[in-house]
Amino acid sequence: MDDTKMEKIVSLSKRRGFIFQGSDVYGGMSGTWDYGPLGVALKRNIINLWWRKFVEERDDIYGVDASIIMNRKVWQASGHVDTFVDPLCEDTVNHRRYRTDHILKDNGLSADGLTMEQMDEVIAKNGIKSPDGNPLSASRTFNMMFKTFVGPTEAEDSVAYLRPETAQGIFTNFKNVVDTFYPDLPFGVAQVGKAFRNEISPRDFVFRSREFEQMEIEYFVDPDDWQTAFDELLASTHSFLKQLGLSDEHIHELEVPAEDRAHYSQRTIDIEYDFPIGREELMGIAYRTDFDLQNVQRVSGKNMVYRVKGSDREFVPHVIEPSFGVERALMAVLTESYREDEVNGEKRVYLQLPEHLAPIRYSVSPLLKNKPELVEKARTIYKSLSQQYPGRVMYDDSGNIGKRYRRQDEIGTPECVVVDFQTLDDDTVTIRDRDTTKQRRVKTSEIIN
Ligand code: ATP
Repeated sequence: MDDTKMEKIVSLSKRRGFIFQGSDVYGGMSGTWDYGPLGVALKRNIINLWWRKFVEERDDIYGVDASIIMNRKVWQASGHVDTFVDPLCEDTVNHRRYRTDHILKDNGLSADGLTMEQMDEVIAKNGIKSPDGNPLSASRTFNMMFKTFVGPTEAEDSVAYLRPETAQGIFTNFKNVVDTFYPDLPFGVAQVGKAFRNEISPRDFVFRSREFEQMEIEYFVDPDDWQTAFDELLASTHSFLKQLGLSDEHIHELEVPAEDRAHYSQRTIDIEYDFPIGREELMGIAYRTDFDLQNVQRVSGKNMVYRVKGSDREFVPHVIEPSFGVERALMAVLTESYREDEVNGEKRVYLQLPEHLAPIRYSVSPLLKNKPELVEKARTIYKSLSQQYPGRVMYDDSGNIGKRYRRQDEIGTPECVVVDFQTLDDDTVTIRDRDTTKQRRVKTSEIIN
């Protein structure tokens, strides 16, 4: 656990306009986060990379975008109404509530494989108290779905839930995709979108939020072929993590033991990352058998059987699910890229973001902002570069050049272009590199197409 690094990342995110506390101006709202101009750009770059790799560059995965509010039968069929719960215990004096497994973890004990009752026993045996030093109550289950009412009456039959995962929006559209695209097995359906969980104790910056985004694929397979598909999707996941710039040494595969897997999962691998808060789940990939489609079939009464083209073979497809949280991916990218060094005896902070993820690709500055001829030339270069990198070029003329470099370093801009008097003579500019801080002189034609 590296609290200092986490604090530095949170502070930089706020200071530089990446991520703010949700509803900040009203005192904030726990578990919600707002993305500033740079945060939204970084988040989009991550999502776009994923969508390009898993949807656009493949011909076997189809995209969908389902409603966030769904018929509540979806969550009855999926088991979420009955079982999407976390263990909750309460400080018996001040009534603050905690997730029981988090209480164990914070006391250096593992809750892996334990039932709620067993967790309570561990708490009793070790004399564990609440963070405020008071006795804890016995645990009970707490359903994490946000409940709301649809329509003008707040009656039981108008109850609906905000989706706690995007996956069910895929299963409910399985038949629509089959009936409109007639895909051969194996094929996948992908979705990116918001998910909502009423986490008992949101914490660790965006890692555990109440509103977050998921990037999920349900990859439908012949049950005989699940292993091949699992291996292929796992390999593609690792290749995606590389594209995010995450180094192998910080990524760990956890083969989830049978006792910790959902009962319908025959294999689950959690990909963990060394966050400043410790080694934690970044994403998961699970073989969910035909559990979900069977549930849809049972509760909807609609047939989910797939008939293999040109044969009599038919079955309800099995599914492999790679499930990613966008915020956790973003937090891993920030963690991996956060750097501190010393330049000319001064401490420097920079984000070593991969070029394709950096919100700003180039900054453009006139050396002096009170020289109209430099400003005019810098504006022209800025305009041309902006056409090549829409939204990813920043015109920066505030403060002295050293301050501009520091600011661009902190937001991860790979290169700063500076226009000076020599530019007016020979059409060359200075390009300053974020990582090495070295400057080189190049013809403008080298960067402008
Ligand atoms: P955890 O055990 O950490 O609560 P989970 O196993 O419940 O996570 P899944 O239901 O498998 O998570 O969700 C898939 C992915 O969605 C996770 O791997 C994670 O990246 C992301 N995710 C889940 N819950 C949250 C949350 N509260 N905030 C941000 N991302 C989340």
